[in-house]
Amino acid sequence: MIKSLTYAATKTYLECAYRFQLIYLEQRPAPVALSLFLGSTLHLALATFYQRGIEGNPMTCRECESFFTEALRKQTVLQHMPSAQGVAWEDRDPRSLEAETLPLLRLYLNWAEKTGLSPACVEREVRRTVGGLPIYGRIDLIDRSGIVIDWKTTQAYAEQAEAGNVLQPLFYAALLGRPIEFHFHYLHKLPALEIRWETRSVSRSAIQWLTQEFLPPVWEAMRCGVYPYADPSSRTCSPSCCDHWGTCKGGALRSDAGAGKPPASDPV
Ligand code: SF4
Repeated sequence: MIKSLTYAATKTYLECAYRFQLIYLEQRPAPVALSLFLGSTLHLALATFYQRGIEGNPMTCRECESFFTEALRKQTVLQHMPSAQGVAWEDRDPRSLEAETLPLLRLYLNWAEKTGLSPACVEREVRRTVGGLPIYGRIDLIDRSGIVIDWKTTQAYAEQAEAGNVLQPLFYAALLGRPIEFHFHYLHKLPALEIRWETRSVSRSAIQWLTQEFLPPVWEAMRCGVYPYADPSSRTCSPSCCDHWGTCKGGALRSDAGAGKPPASDPV
């Protein structure tokens, strides 16, 4: 049974309850989706770069790039993913992915320096109980100005209309217990290497709505084994984003599974 409510678990539950079941309840082993592996490795490199700066032992951009390359080759992030069965490379050449991604990392570090990013903390773990909800999260970066920043590593930029992009700032404000200014920093490769950012402001009344109205029934349903939600338009339901594409191939969202009847282990 799930013990605490995270933004990622909530988003997964709302997008595909079957995927939620596989990841959070069964912890079923699967190859890690390529986008998750690349994104996690970029996160690790950025977090290490800024943490070293906070500790007064800064890395150069070149050192950060070397760190990223080594972490990618050693698949370091998989050590923290107990259900990982390697990486789903999708016929992609790891060396060409590395060569594609390094300029994006370089671009972000230069961009962030120009914008005056001044980290106060990175990868901050927060655990709170709000109105009986045990919420937990790890916040990418909080700037000295108090702005909360989340890195989004996506292959291609799309107008970000997903529910998660509304939910995440609310969730982090609830974790911190205060209204916040929240910035998404998008690192994407298509149509060109580019950094974009979007801002959200979260008010106290929005936090109350989240913790008093929205999350309690979701949490209750998760714990009772009720799986009524599915979003067939979710971009997560794709070979590069869902770890369980290999066994499911979208079957749970195409069938009645999204209405509470998950498919058998090999539905297609
Ligand atoms: S492939 Fe699609 S339907 Fe199947 S578990 Fe993944 S997100 Fe859900």
